[in-house]
Amino acid sequence: MPHSESPPESENSPIPMANVDQEQQNAVAESTTAQVPEAQQPADEDVDMADSNAVLSAPTNGTTHTSKSKAESQAETPNNQETPVPEAAASAPSESKPATGVKLEELFDEMDSDDDEFPTTKAAKREPASSPDLLSSQSDMEIDLHEASDPEVMRTFYQRLFPWRYLFQWLNHSPTPTNDFGHREFAFTLQNDAYLRYQSFTTSDLLRKDVLRLMPSRFEIGPVYTANPRDRKTLRNSSAFRPLSKELCFDIDLTDYDDIRTCCDKANICQKCWQFITMAIKVVDTALREDFGFKHIMWVYSGRRGAHAWVCDKSARALDDQKRRAIAGYLEVIRGGAQSGKKVNLRRPLHPHLVRSLDILKQHFQSDVLEAQDPWRTEDQQEKLLALLPSEQKQLVSALRNKWASSPDRPSALKWADIDSVAKTSTAKNFDTKSLLDAKQDIVLEYTYPRLDIEVSKKLNHLLKSPFVVHPGTGRVCVPIDVKRGLESFDPLGVPTVQSLIREIDEWKKPEPKEGGQEQEVEKHVVDWEKTSLKGYIEYFRSFVIGLMKDEREIKVKRERDEEGGGGGESMEF
Ligand SMILES: [Zn+2]
Repeated sequence: MPHSESPPESENSPIPMANVDQEQQNAVAESTTAQVPEAQQPADEDVDMADSNAVLSAPTNGTTHTSKSKAESQAETPNNQETPVPEAAASAPSESKPATGVKLEELFDEMDSDDDEFPTTKAAKREPASSPDLLSSQSDMEIDLHEASDPEVMRTFYQRLFPWRYLFQWLNHSPTPTNDFGHREFAFTLQNDAYLRYQSFTTSDLLRKDVLRLMPSRFEIGPVYTANPRDRKTLRNSSAFRPLSKELCFDIDLTDYDDIRTCCDKANICQKCWQFITMAIKVVDTALREDFGFKHIMWVYSGRRGAHAWVCDKSARALDDQKRRAIAGYLEVIRGGAQSGKKVNLRRPLHPHLVRSLDILKQHFQSDVLEAQDPWRTEDQQEKLLALLPSEQKQLVSALRNKWASSPDRPSALKWADIDSVAKTSTAKNFDTKSLLDAKQDIVLEYTYPRLDIEVSKKLNHLLKSPFVVHPGTGRVCVPIDVKRGLESFDPLGVPTVQSLIREIDEWKKPEPKEGGQEQEVEKHVVDWEKTSLKGYIEYFRSFVIGLMKDEREIKVKRERDEEGGGGGESMEF
């Protein structure tokens, strides 16, 4: 286990600044290359083809498929799969710096008290003129006129509101830097759509500085690698650079519901169709907790029309591609895109996961599908429903069609009830009640069961947009959703935009001309995000991260005890 022997970085000097600068120049060089249209791009021997592909393929939605990356093709080689990384080695980097002798509570105290990364309004005002202060120089009206993608709006957000420290702790699993963070890949989408992969940072401050310098329109998080992603080209043996661990992720997007939602389509959403995401989160979250035993699951609004899950348990992060595919397959019930025909056709008896899911989804089907979406109201639409009934029950289908012909625009909820009432009066000799019940269950699932973009979940080296970045189209912040307390009430259209947040900072400090010196003392301790509606989201994120770090530390202590006693490490069981 070579990784565990040498500490990754010295505590007081992470990486010499000169090196960082050199790397940053390289990064810019890559991005400059990417601006050249592909056809005109000169043959450049320094450009690794795999990398230039990655750089040139700017992603168009919240996730990025890394199909062209070198890392992925390595991950697919059978050779690699035959020699899985032992669990102990896989987590070795994070083990290399045991913080023995320090009480956990003290570590948390320390990290909570030091809020330099969250400057107050006052502190920020002292910044040089090279970073213009939107608050002091412009009125609210003018701020509204700024696009969310305006570099100055973004700069203010990343400088003063983004929770860098908690993001670091979340990915690092400890308050002090480890390879869990240092060997983690970040990918930046720049304003010109150039895509920079394999960025890495030893501390949250270095990440913050680079984001402020490059002003990406967004950034994504990839896996922890066996080596520093920036060093990948210097490694003699290409197999020395491969992904080790990453959160298990899920992606649910409302565009996959376009054939069943009637209120909106494409990029548009409303509170009605958001309920599809709410029910999907309930089903997936419950299965991940009850069937797989995961505890640290964070759901994040994707900024426009969907949500991402980050399963952060250590056991989830260590899953190889095969196990990720297995879990994805377990949760996938609805296949295929917009093509017509029956999408759900389940074997009986139903798997317990589906029985439980149906139980969760029944309520939503009644209120959020039948009533809110009214998917079978018109004559054309009702044919979709009739086509999903058992094909052998022709009598029932034609009886329903006749009944509905005399009452055009009969609401879907009534049509759904008609199925049973008409079936009861059936004169057919051997009417198959069971097959009708099964078909109705399949219909409920087709209209409610989560539609997952399963590619996101299958690969260890898939990149996913970071929580708390700003969606450049909507300006909304990708906030975490507190599933236990705020899932039902979560309103995607009420999520703060970067422009509204900047105005909130401004408004918070405005109304106190009569307040004396003491009040100003108080203000000094209030960091900017606490003055805004981002507060609840960041506090939730912080509590999530603290819970994760506590568990992580307990696992580590237990492992150390086991190793001393000659026992093995934890085992992964499914
Ligand atoms: Zn809608």
